[in-house]
Amino acid sequence: MALNDGVFDFPEAELVKQTEICKNCKNIVVGKGSEKSKILFVGEAPGRNEDEQGLPFVGAAGKNLDKLLQGVGLSINDVYIANILKCRPPENRNPLPEEIKLHTPWLIKQIKEMKPEVVCSLGNYATKFFLAKGIVEEMNAQPGITTLHGKVRQMDFLGLDIKLIPLFHPAAIIYNQKLKVDWEKDMEIVKKEISKA
Ligand code: URA
Repeated sequence: MALNDGVFDFPEAELVKQTEICKNCKNIVVGKGSEKSKILFVGEAPGRNEDEQGLPFVGAAGKNLDKLLQGVGLSINDVYIANILKCRPPENRNPLPEEIKLHTPWLIKQIKEMKPEVVCSLGNYATKFFLAKGIVEEMNAQPGITTLHGKVRQMDFLGLDIKLIPLFHPAAIIYNQKLKVDWEKDMEIVKKEISKA
């Protein structure tokens, strides 16, 4: 049982708790930042550090994300950051479709309360989730992040008008330095779009 399990008592949290990864994690990682912000970042899933601290993006990928935010003149208090999955998959494996199905109703609840104007999707899973409008079966049919990064798209997401900015996952930049040039160009796009929000 997760350490912070008892804190969450609503139907969307119960779905998360049904999954095996929730039974084996240390903490349910809900999000961090300001829920009043109009700018939302969505990653994939907590890693080891996030699981231990109960907060998203506190490890090496988090350092890149912090740099991104600083570079566009923002701090953590100006945005909200969450993940597709609320619990760490073993060995950081990819999220399974069934896990995405059971974890994202909570994310959708957060999105509906927050009503973001700009959503920066970090990596393939988050980008495909938004493009598929939350329909997990349609995620596979969406183009990948290599094609889509930096391409801003105004779209309807479950009745909300959002501006989606797909970005490489900050962890990908650590493993593949070649992506850094694109990442920095994409940051300019984020800066421009955020200034309009
Ligand atoms: N990678 C993610 O996608 N999310 C985190 O919270 C940490 C690393």
